[in-house]
Amino acid sequence: MILYSTNHRVPDVNFEEAVFKGLPDDNGLYMPREIDKLPDSFFENIHEMSLQEIALQVTANLIGDEIPTNDLMEIVNDAFDFEAPVVPVTENIRSLELYHGPTLAFKDFGARFMSRVMGYFLKKRKREVNILVATSGDTGSAVAQGFLNVPGITVTILYPRGKVSEIQRKQLTTVGQNVTALEVSGTFDDCQRMVKQAFLDRKIREKHSLSSANSINISRLIPQSIYYYYAYAQVKEEGKPVVFCVPSGNYGNLCGGLIAKATGLPIKRFVAASNANDVVPKYLNGHPYETRPSVQTISNAMDVGDPSNFARLQALYDERFPDIVRDIAGKSFSDEQTEATIARVFKETGYILDPHGAIGYAALEQHLKECDKDALGIFLETAHPAKFADVVEPLIKQSVIFPKRLSEVLSKTENAISIGSSYDHLKAYLEQRK
Ligand SMILES: *Cc1c(COP(=O)(O)O)cnc(C)c1O
Repeated sequence: MILYSTNHRVPDVNFEEAVFKGLPDDNGLYMPREIDKLPDSFFENIHEMSLQEIALQVTANLIGDEIPTNDLMEIVNDAFDFEAPVVPVTENIRSLELYHGPTLAFKDFGARFMSRVMGYFLKKRKREVNILVATSGDTGSAVAQGFLNVPGITVTILYPRGKVSEIQRKQLTTVGQNVTALEVSGTFDDCQRMVKQAFLDRKIREKHSLSSANSINISRLIPQSIYYYYAYAQVKEEGKPVVFCVPSGNYGNLCGGLIAKATGLPIKRFVAASNANDVVPKYLNGHPYETRPSVQTISNAMDVGDPSNFARLQALYDERFPDIVRDIAGKSFSDEQTEATIARVFKETGYILDPHGAIGYAALEQHLKECDKDALGIFLETAHPAKFADVVEPLIKQSVIFPKRLSEVLSKTENAISIGSSYDHLKAYLEQRK
């Protein structure tokens, strides 16, 4: 696999280099030079394949011979050992439930694949790394669970004290083993700045073999295309054109879908759905692209004012706006609309949405009324409603059933190391630990 930087100022790299570098030195994003079409036979047989079988074909097609088939099979079988069912909600709207992994959110797909790919390369090279990651909630727990007990890797997670939900904090601080949680007396921006500074500090970076695991890593993007194929496989025999609606923040999830389409997956259209942080839907509806500071909403994993994958979205279309808006519609919804959708859908259908999925549902419903009337719509339900029980329960006027792996976490002992909010605090921590 050959990858280029979207800023075009550094040489191409192979997959392994892109995985460990994360970000190219010119501050662009790595993208595959070529995205090969999958063979017709794959799409003819897809409805008979499991998630893991599909994952193997899709990742092999993108990554090429850098990871031999048998090794890749082990990686995907271990990474994707949970389901991703398409569940009917109404006549023409389905939910693709991406929350059946260990942390109950779709980021498990990216984090689990990335950790195993890194572990594979490290073992081959007899190397070790320390993953350093800042989180405002969900990414951290997916990374912590994803890297748990992967040999050759230790993980240090920085989170802002008092600014993550109780469940999120539990998910970060109860992992243990090779995962350490650092509770920072500051904001998420402080955490992110401290991590950035550590990577810029060459001496520290090399001495401690620091590596990143953030959402722009190409090994997190690739697995986010797999469930689009698997969802298509589940509805293929109904013979309708398929529209996917993606509740979005950094637009990595949507980019996964666009890559799937580029390999030949017959997707009629995408709907990019946002909360009040609507820079991309605005752009898709003909306004200039203007990033701005994020605003807080109840779908907080989508509170992004400067989406990091926008450059990838543009690169996939060679920046041709007419082609982009032919494939992708954009819609945004307020918190009030999100809450009304959760209440209404539960009342009418009994289906419980989380605040992120609710935006996907609302955008899809509106889109199918205006356009693509003959299509089957699938929205990506990106988190389990129990993770947002404080929002959801008053709206549906009953309690949400907590899956076992979430309730188990609540009774575990927490372990976190408190540190201050400057880079010197992080540096001191790194220097003193064994
Ligand atoms: C991260 C996240 C999103 C947004 O996904 P992007 O790839 O950043 O667009 C949506 N919903 C949930 C629950 C998330 O954790």
